[in-house]
Formats: sequence, structure tokens, C-alpha cells
Amino acid sequence: MPTQRQLFLDHLGQTSDFPLLIEIERADGVYLYGPNGERYLDLISGIGVSSLGHRHPAVIEAIHAQVDKHLHVMVYGEFVQSPQVQLGAALADSLPDPLEAAFLVNSGGEAIEGALKMAKRYTGRTELISCVEAYHGSTHGALSVGGNESLKQAYRPLLPDTRRMVYGSFRDLELITQRTAAVLVETIQGEAGVRISCSTWFQALRERCTQVGALLILDEIQCGMGRTGTLWAFEQMGIVPDAVVSAKALGGGMPIGAFVASREVMGVFKTNPILGNISTFGGHPVSAAAAYAALQALRNSDLLTQVPAKAARFRDQLKHPLIRGIRNAGLMMAVEFDHFEVVKPIIDRAIELGVITDWFLFCDNSLRIAPPLIITNEQIDHACQVILQACEEH
Ligand code: PMP
Repeated sequence: MPTQRQLFLDHLGQTSDFPLLIEIERADGVYLYGPNGERYLDLISGIGVSSLGHRHPAVIEAIHAQVDKHLHVMVYGEFVQSPQVQLGAALADSLPDPLEAAFLVNSGGEAIEGALKMAKRYTGRTELISCVEAYHGSTHGALSVGGNESLKQAYRPLLPDTRRMVYGSFRDLELITQRTAAVLVETIQGEAGVRISCSTWFQALRERCTQVGALLILDEIQCGMGRTGTLWAFEQMGIVPDAVVSAKALGGGMPIGAFVASREVMGVFKTNPILGNISTFGGHPVSAAAAYAALQALRNSDLLTQVPAKAARFRDQLKHPLIRGIRNAGLMMAVEFDHFEVVKPIIDRAIELGVITDWFLFCDNSLRIAPPLIITNEQIDHACQVILQACEEH
């Protein structure tokens, strides 16, 4: 009898030669459980998804209620389905004007694709500017605006007319011109290893985009939904983008993505050609119901206000000669070491000790901490003890 692990290796497409291979039977709150009684504290929320913890009761209840009503009934954009309508209205309510119309899709990458197409149609321009070391997804368009060559080079030719600027560089704002359809920026860069720019830069970026008529699209797929202490990370930057993109934590553990813009900008898909962006499963009713419940649960809780203190609790304890520094925007944290050869054994040992963490796509000298926001002080203390023990045994 082949083991589950062997079947995984034999019959599922692999993404690397060294998958984590942790077997999961169930999950609850901040914990993941294996088939033989193993328990892991989830410090990465798989990744950046389970902000409310695994199987949040409100999300589970919403899923059950929707499953009893209907599953898929029609492609996105035709039938009036209450979970989609509620989610769209709730997103609009959570965002400043004029961000009032949400296009629902299935994933972060698909939402990025839609937002880029929207900008091209709205401006009649083709140039797309994004940042060095940005990550926006793995589909061809999202990869084209990705900011790391090593992920892209094997897939050329990609989309033409894309340019890169340095995140946070005032000088590079001059690259944005009247040729530019959209500037796509992660409000906080995730896979670059939690890189944070100042609000002054964001304000200058906003001003430049407005000046030349380019759409400013913020990717809040990883940093949104409360991870940084406000529902949307851009709230801390004092600007309003032309579009915001969300996924990951949006679904409360179910797959869904969205890009949100003004009704005017969103209107471009309706004509010339009609059906300019379509998706069979976009805004699946069960995912939309889960997302609506998750958004309500988050907004009705005091989890956001607890984020700074919880982040500080990690920062205060994670002190060790091997730790070079910590970058964080709320509970989106990168603990920096000298290099990957130091980080990897620490991550492996932490997992053996029952704490799951990992590193970043474009920053392998840093350890990721992005726990469910519901993590308690005791659980934070335990996680820190384990990481410090792993450092000590290095
Ligand atoms: N943008 C950012 C900032 C992300 O972190 C990710 C996923 N890591 C994506 C886009 C792509 O999302 P998905 O994997 O759902 O396509």
C-alpha cells in the first residue's frame, strides 16, 4: 500500500524537489493537526490566508448555509446571487470612494489579470509599470509584471511594454508617463521579504499617476484584510488608489479574488467587446458567502486593534545573536538572518518542534511570520521560544 506521501509525490504536479510534505488531517484556530496526533502552530496562515484562524465558526456557518441553498448556478456576471451581492456591497462599504464596484474571480493572479486588462481598456494605453522584486502571481500576465527575473526568464516572451521601477524610489516615479496605463504596486511588498515604503512616497506616487492619467492599482492580496492592523494597508498611506486587488485572506479559507474600482472604470468590460473579462466560477457562491462572513467577522471584532501589540510581542522576544533584524507591518513580519543556510535549519527545527514557518520567494535570508490574527499572547510566547530554541541549537 503506497503511503499518502508517496501518492502525493507520484500523482500530484510538483512545484519543487523539496516540498514540506507535512501531512494534514484537520485544522482549527491557529493549529494544524496531522494523522498521528501531531499538532503544529501555524505561523504563516497558509500563506497569508487564514487570518481569522482555520475554520472560523462564522465562516463555517456561512458555508453550510450556502451549500444548503445552491452551489454554482451560472457564470459570473449574469445571475443575481445573494452571496456575491452582499460581498460586493460589503467591500464597497469597507473602501473609500470611489472604490465601489468589485469584480469577483477565483484567485489573486486572476484578479491581477483582470485589473491590468481594466487599466488598458480604461486608459487606451498599454504600458504597465510595476516594482522590482514584486510578486503578483504566476499566470502569464501577472508574471509579466513580476519583479524577479529568476521566476520569469524561462517563460519569455511575456507581455510586452512592461517596465520596472524601484519600490519607494522617488526618482523612478519619473518612469510613469502619459504612455502608462497602470502602475501596479503591493502596498507592502510581501515576497520581497516585507518591504515597507513611507506614506510620503505613496502620496508622490498617487500624485504622479493622477498627473499623467495612469491608474494606480494596489495589490493588497497579501497585505490586506487586516494583516497590517488596518483592514486595507493603504489606509496607513493616506492615499486612495484607482483600484485595489484582494484575494488570499478575503475568502476566510475559501478560494476567491476580487478587484475593486469605481463603477466608471469597471464599466470598460461591458462594451467593445462585450464580455471583456469573464470567469465561469468567479465569485463562487460558497466562496463569496465565506468571504462575506469573514469580512463581517473581522470588522465586528477587535482583532485589528490588537495587531500592533501582538507584533510588538514577537519583536520584543525575538532577540538572538543570529537574528539580524525584523521588518514588519503589523503581523506581516520578516525575521532576518545572514543567509539561507542559517534560516533553513531553523525553519526545519521549528517544524520538528511543532511551529510552521517558511521563507520568502525573493528573500531567502528571512523567516516569515504571518500568523492568524487570532493568535493569543501565550501562543506568541510559545512560538518565540521555539524559534529561539531552534536558533540556539543551530
Ligand atoms: N499578489 C501577491 C502580493 C501575492 O502575495 C500573491 C500570492 N502569493 C499573489 C498576488 C497571487 O495570488 P494567487 O496565488 O492567489 O494567484
